[in-house]
Amino acid sequence: MCDMCSSPEAVYRIELEGSMLNVCEKCSSYGRVIAKLKQEEPEKKKKKEKKVVEEAEVKPKKDTETLQIIVPNYSSLIKTRREKLGLKQKELAMKIAEKESVIHKLESGHMKPGLPLARKLERFLKIRLVEEVELDDTGISAKGIKGSDELTLGDLIDIK
Ligand SMILES: [Zn+2]
Repeated sequence: MCDMCSSPEAVYRIELEGSMLNVCEKCSSYGRVIAKLKQEEPEKKKKKEKKVVEEAEVKPKKDTETLQIIVPNYSSLIKTRREKLGLKQKELAMKIAEKESVIHKLESGHMKPGLPLARKLERFLKIRLVEEVELDDTGISAKGIKGSDELTLGDLIDIK
């Protein structure tokens, strides 16, 4: 900006009565021109200041698998809940359209319910019988191999 007339472009640096002024071309005639001011192009300036934003390091997507596992203590869960509801095995069986023998096997731990049966029991008894386990490269089985006390996937599935 010109120090004398407020014109937006100051082109010359001049000396006028002992003061240094940045002035436009028109006003430069009032004093002694010392230097020509370097014109800064606003466009260029912007570009220079623009910083490259570093993108957050994105981890490669892992192959995860969700496994549904019947909880190990399904038998006691079913039995306890059934008794709390005051139902006999036969009555529970009727309610969920299964055979009495099925309930008996479930509660004695002789039969692990499949997912559909487990879901049916969950809904009726309002208990949790199915657990979801997420598997990936560092999954449960891998932990087992590393020698920790963690159960291997095989152990979880085979638990009676
Ligand atoms: Zn001026």
